[in-house]
Amino acid sequence: MGLMCSLGKHKWDKCKCSVCGKTQHEWNKNSEACTRCGGVLEIATISSAVSAA
Ligand SMILES: [Zn+2]
Ligand SMILES: [Zn+2]
Repeated sequence: MGLMCSLGKHKWDKCKCSVCGKTQHEWNKNSEACTRCGGVLEIATISSAVSAA
């Protein structure tokens, strides 16, 4: 992980950090699609979100 990433300053390319590969999507509550990149919420992410709720 890069120094800036460890400080929480990621180099975002849309929703993915081009340095460490971390993703930070902004899910649309109505369509389950990311408002930034248009990506669709994955099944694994849904199940983990349900268990966390
Ligand atoms: Zn990063
Ligand atoms: Zn996204």
